[in-house]
Amino acid sequence: RTARRPFVLELHEGDRTMAGLLGGKGAGLAEMSRLGLPVPPGFIVTTEACRAWLSGGGEPDGLWGQIEDAMVELEQRAGLRFGDPSAPLLVSVRSGARFSMPGMMETVLDVGMTDAVAAALVARGEGRFAWDSYRRLVQMYGRTVLGVDGVLFDDQLTLLRQETGAATDADLDAAALERLTAGFRRLVRERTGEDLPQDPREQLHRAVIAVFASWNGERARLYRAHEGIPDDLGTAVNVVQMVFGNRGERSGSGVCFTRDPVSGAPGVFGDYLPDAQGEDVVSGSRSPMDLSELGRREPALHAELSTHLRTLEEHYRDLCDVEFTVERGRLWILQTRLGKRSPAAAFRIAVELVDEGVIDLDEALTRVDGTQLQTLLHPTFASAEGLTPLARGLAASPGAAYGQLVFDAETAMAWTALGRAVVLARPETSPDDFGGLLAARAVITSRGGLTSHAAVVARGLGRTCVTGVEGLVVDPDARVATLPGGVTLPEGTVVSVDGTAGELYAGQRDVEPSAVATAVSQGAAPGEHGGDSTVRAVLTLLAHADLRRRLGVMANAETPEEARDARRFGAEGIGLCRTEHMLLGDRRVLVERLVTDEDREGALAEIEQLAHAEFTALLETMEGLPVVVRLLDPPLHEFLPDLVELSVEVARAEERGTVEPALERRLATTRRWHESNPMLGLRGVRLLTVLPQIIDAQVRALAEATVELRDRGHDVRPELMVPLVADVAELVAARTRMEAIVGDVARAHDTSLHLPIGVMVELARAALTASELAQHADFFSFGTNDLTQTTWGISRDDAEANFLAAYRDAGIVATDPFKTIDEAGVGALVELAARDGRRTCPALGLGACGEHAGDPASIAFFARVGVDYLSCSPPRIPVVRLEAGRQAV
Ligand code: PEP
Ligand code: MG
Repeated sequence: RTARRPFVLELHEGDRTMAGLLGGKGAGLAEMSRLGLPVPPGFIVTTEACRAWLSGGGEPDGLWGQIEDAMVELEQRAGLRFGDPSAPLLVSVRSGARFSMPGMMETVLDVGMTDAVAAALVARGEGRFAWDSYRRLVQMYGRTVLGVDGVLFDDQLTLLRQETGAATDADLDAAALERLTAGFRRLVRERTGEDLPQDPREQLHRAVIAVFASWNGERARLYRAHEGIPDDLGTAVNVVQMVFGNRGERSGSGVCFTRDPVSGAPGVFGDYLPDAQGEDVVSGSRSPMDLSELGRREPALHAELSTHLRTLEEHYRDLCDVEFTVERGRLWILQTRLGKRSPAAAFRIAVELVDEGVIDLDEALTRVDGTQLQTLLHPTFASAEGLTPLARGLAASPGAAYGQLVFDAETAMAWTALGRAVVLARPETSPDDFGGLLAARAVITSRGGLTSHAAVVARGLGRTCVTGVEGLVVDPDARVATLPGGVTLPEGTVVSVDGTAGELYAGQRDVEPSAVATAVSQGAAPGEHGGDSTVRAVLTLLAHADLRRRLGVMANAETPEEARDARRFGAEGIGLCRTEHMLLGDRRVLVERLVTDEDREGALAEIEQLAHAEFTALLETMEGLPVVVRLLDPPLHEFLPDLVELSVEVARAEERGTVEPALERRLATTRRWHESNPMLGLRGVRLLTVLPQIIDAQVRALAEATVELRDRGHDVRPELMVPLVADVAELVAARTRMEAIVGDVARAHDTSLHLPIGVMVELARAALTASELAQHADFFSFGTNDLTQTTWGISRDDAEANFLAAYRDAGIVATDPFKTIDEAGVGALVELAARDGRRTCPALGLGACGEHAGDPASIAFFARVGVDYLSCSPPRIPVVRLEAGRQAV
């Protein structure tokens, strides 16, 4: 790039590889200029300039001078002059970061419009166009540069429409728009004491800085936190000659996709709005027409557009999202980027691009992710037969969701925080509603098309969405929505939203497994897709992921039913059998009897007998595959009676004068074993050390079950694992005892038996002393739930409600450390233990079995530190298979 102007590049100086410097939008514009597409001339203020400004040093030296130079060149290319009434150049000033943040930052259009320019245009007979452009500038400048609340402009606009009887903005005539411009300027003066500058250079200068500042706007920060986009990238600013879709009948603006972003089906797809600027299409203020309608009205234009769309898709080898404007019959392409798509479309498009020979399967794998697959595995509505929808709209983002209606983003967030399922209904959405879109299960809007803000954001988030619901009137102030026929839906009404069919239903509809979930859970092969393109795509990519992945995928499962599910989902074994789960429900008293010495021997015998039966069933189900049985790890508070409840019971009994001695004894022992900090209490190997008879019972049960099954010809592969170890001595003691029992059983049956013994690394001390542990373990399994709890010193049971949610809101933590691995802290311990363990014992097996092992966002980390397998709950297995495949290509 030119050293002459370090902060500014002209479009023809850049290309698509420069998104870091030019932002995604700038890089796209530059690439399209290169391809010879009709892009208006312009230049880009780089992200480097924004970063310099963001770092607090004020405006970087020389920035403005470089912008002025670039404006001179832009004037020459456009054949127009900035601020010159006889040949006025107007420019758009748009944000554009490296990663798409649709609508999250600011834009100012029509910069360069002044009283003098407007007067000249009026004199040339373009009054309506002049005042429409002018009012837009005052509105956007007022909001973005001067910080006037955007609602105040909208209110004036609504009022004007009512006064003049205009159905939409397009019906406002020149006189009305002139009044509106004056009204907007009055509003700005009243609110800020400033008027719109009449020097176009000042307009431009301040608009650029305002776009920089919008990087740190609240919704932009919220969006980045959700999408995991770093906070220090900054935005570029695109300054481009305005072309006008609001210049009469043969003008208009549109948004389109090279394929259907909802279903993934081939064929151009989009919306067009005559006599409008681009933001009118996405804001949903008027309902646009389908692109095919443009084809009927302007066949030549439609053909030209289609050619450009083909060029772009072939060039980018992926779904492209394109914004275009038609000015008096001439087509301009204003923006392209990779299109946001629904999860179903992502899979279908990736695999169909493979069919078309555009990309290979490895690349197709990188085009989808585990989170999308998770969405596709969600249940869908059962048949709608016999049900009548309340209303129909556009199927903007597929899915099935129900919840209570709310009418603003704040309520959506507040109710969701209370654990309620909500459906957000809005007349239309704007970027200010992002928090609400994120919180809601589904979104419905009364206006807007398939490319409206609500539709695009919902598809990106995998939220169910129906836009343009016919006849729906949403009144956020009165907190009620109405439908034709006198149907009123007050806040809190439960509705069901079918985003696949585009329908709204009263009440909560029944759900059933999705076609994808059914196929995947039956272990279907890619050929067994029943004609469903999305199912075929998912099965194809899962099969390819299995071929590529190096990570093994195991299940956390205890019962034969779970084990069967796990096998069908593709598990290669059980990585964690939590034996305490076998003692829940009525069997809880066994743990109580065990620790409190109420007939300990009897309890042990019962546990052994139970364990024998359960292990036998589990091993049989998992024939041919490893089953890692973890010795008992019961947090005592989950198994012993509640001390307070029991004390109350005794007190009541005392009042009645009838306290049973057994009840009193129970209270005394409960008090004796009560822990104030049970998660740091007598758990895991500590209990096994205090009561090693438990080891004997469990290991004997497993060893006996194994020998018997093998005698019957079964290929069973049990392993053992010791929980919550902090010190090697604990492991050695447990291991010695385990090996003795295994030896006893083998001798008794006159056979040989070897059960691998692993250790869970779930305490910082275990990770820090991994070299020692590795000398006495066949494998490590990272228990990242407890490792997170103890590394952060925060309770896995209480932290979310007590403060983690507040921490996320305050930006102190970006994600929940119990959900996505905290690489810097917990991850560092995992990495250290993996490295030290393998250094001591190169053959050491490494697995992970905390919740993080099933989290799509954590799998890259585990792949990087070199674990051999991940173990997660059965329904997450397909997600992990897919992600593990993605990590390997
Ligand atoms: C863990 O701590 O990560 C783990 C898998 O064990 P549990 O969740 O049973 O404590
Ligand atoms: Mg644990």
